[in-house]
Amino acid sequence: MNYQAFTLLNYEQIPGISCLNEEDREAIRIIGHVLPFKTNNYVTEQLINWNDIPNDPIFTLNFPRKEMLPKKMYNKSLNLLSENLDRNILRQEINKIRMALNPNPAGQEHNVPVMDDIRLHGVQHKYRETVLFFPSQGQTCHAYCTFCFRWPQFSGMNDLKFSMKEADLFFKYLKQKHRVTDVLFTGGDPLTMTTNALANYIEPLLGKEFEHIHTIRLGTKSLTYWPYRFLNDKDSDELMALFEKIVKSGKNLTIQAHFNHPVELSTDVVRQAISRIRNTGAQIRTQSPVLRKINDHPDLWSEMWRKQVDLGCIPYYMFIARDTGAKQFFELPLEKCWKIFKKAYSQVSGTCRTVRGPSMSCSPGKIQVLGVADVKGEKVFVLRFLQGHNSNWVDVPFFAQYDPEVTWFDQLKPAFGEKKFFFECDDQGYKYLNTNKNNILLE
Ligand SMILES: *Cc1c(COP(=O)(O)O)cnc(C)c1O
Ligand code: SF4
Repeated sequence: MNYQAFTLLNYEQIPGISCLNEEDREAIRIIGHVLPFKTNNYVTEQLINWNDIPNDPIFTLNFPRKEMLPKKMYNKSLNLLSENLDRNILRQEINKIRMALNPNPAGQEHNVPVMDDIRLHGVQHKYRETVLFFPSQGQTCHAYCTFCFRWPQFSGMNDLKFSMKEADLFFKYLKQKHRVTDVLFTGGDPLTMTTNALANYIEPLLGKEFEHIHTIRLGTKSLTYWPYRFLNDKDSDELMALFEKIVKSGKNLTIQAHFNHPVELSTDVVRQAISRIRNTGAQIRTQSPVLRKINDHPDLWSEMWRKQVDLGCIPYYMFIARDTGAKQFFELPLEKCWKIFKKAYSQVSGTCRTVRGPSMSCSPGKIQVLGVADVKGEKVFVLRFLQGHNSNWVDVPFFAQYDPEVTWFDQLKPAFGEKKFFFECDDQGYKYLNTNKNNILLE
């Protein structure tokens, strides 16, 4: 199959699109001007069931619909686009709407390291052991998810774009950071790059001065959106040779594969791609957010984890959708996310229970909802850090007031009448407060 993208320019040509009425098609155009829109012929021909529109999960994953923007914003965008405005003015106005959609959740810019007074745009280093790297050529995807939290990177909002053209600075930084064991290439999707471009970033890391780097990780949704990337694209064979080279050098190669729904694992081509990747010695770990109208049922998750394990993949994370973009369309209360996780987790064997979640990636770290409990008459959420800005916070249980409506960490309040959570910051940043009862944890 040859890759064919569908964007705002040609989506009317998608076979199947005729199932949509006039208003639904207009919604694609309106929202597609605010949030990025792209799909491709593999997704539309092999993953979407056009007899089940608009409920089909993969349709919902790729195609904007009216309710994905708050009503006011939708109407504003509709008006702007019908006004025949000058292009620059239109862009400014659209950007105002985008800014109201929290384009930069979890304060990602705080994770950009500084070396010799230079900010390393394109690098994020939040957790001691793992550095994220955003190669500039990889800041796109084979299709775009409607819930994506990286959407500003595809919308030309340049101030918010994380990417790096110049890898030398990154290598210099890594050489100094001996506690870093993992480099995670991310985007967008780094596997939209040519093998050649990817090799230029990865091969230097196989050298002697990077002995402290044990694992190269590639975050990708290509297995869902373009599995041919691993099979018969122009440079697929070179890509597999690069994977083998990494493994032969003695490092782990981990594909962090993004799967949202079991249907994504059902085609012959994705199965062949998984098998080919595994034959190089790479491992595949899987992750996904839990999303309303896409995968908000425990049976889908247990089915997905089982299929993944059958195919030799390792379930890794269940996330809670971040507070950005079309979040209000996809969001679920924390309690519901936990119930989905718990039920799914309880109906699979230990081989699937490598998965952890549901987890929120927020400023202080990755926070897992362990459950709802009654502690001395107070109903509480039990939480813990899976990753912490400060690594001492990891794996310490803590409590928040129960609230059935809460959908994100910033709405939580400490339980038991406490004023702050144990990790909350003073003006200088993330430090324990002196008054903290958990001060045994102080560094
Ligand atoms: C999730 C994440 C990582 C990787 O965390 P692991 O638990 O090692 O998979 C690294 N950096 C940031 C900023 C992250 O959000
Ligand atoms: S594949 Fe990942 S980065 Fe790309 S659109 Fe989807 S969520 Fe965003």
